[in-house]
Amino acid sequence: MNVHNAEIIISAVSPKQYPETELPEIALAGRSNVGKSSFINTLINRKNLARTSGKPGKTQTLNFYLIEDALHFVDVPGYGYAKVSKTERAKWGEMIETYMTTREQLKAVVSLVDLRHAPTQEDIQMYEFLKYYDIPVIVVATKKDKIPRGKWNKHESIIKKALNFDKSDDFILFSSQTKEGKEEAWQAIEKYL
Ligand code: GDP
Repeated sequence: MNVHNAEIIISAVSPKQYPETELPEIALAGRSNVGKSSFINTLINRKNLARTSGKPGKTQTLNFYLIEDALHFVDVPGYGYAKVSKTERAKWGEMIETYMTTREQLKAVVSLVDLRHAPTQEDIQMYEFLKYYDIPVIVVATKKDKIPRGKWNKHESIIKKALNFDKSDDFILFSSQTKEGKEEAWQAIEKYL
């Protein structure tokens, strides 16, 4: 998809704030700093529409972006901030779980991991959660440009093994710097629209 129009529609916390449309939704999840905002901005050809999410103390909301009047991207607040309190973490978990398990418009989740590192416990939990609820998942490994070409395979294998990756899911190596993986990511997303 070649995107010309994208705008934020609403930052929602509870289901009654979700937009009332039938448009398909693609949610994007990942730990803070994984490169989720950069991924969104790359896919929608914008420099700075999606902002770095999930700083401690900031309100944790689901941000709905309308793309080309054709779909919504739903930016899920980043997980994995050690400083967030237990209560905040529980609230975060409940909001995500409610959205992901009840939203009929949700077609697939892009689960972002950092190609440089083994997945965190939270990355693994997210993947297991999506598999358990049978929610289609596209794994995007970010920051490909930071790993030399000769090591891409090795890093991919480590991630897949830790996730107990299902071969029928998409796995995409991505860089917001070089834009590698952008077309592949759109193709994977478009399968679910
Ligand atoms: P978010 O918290 O997941 O939304 O992460 P951001 O998109 O804000 O990115 C976190 C940091 O990683 C920023 O400093 C980005 O410039 C950097 N970053 C994100 N994606 C890439 C990438 O593909 N390559 C490189 N080299 N840096 C990236």
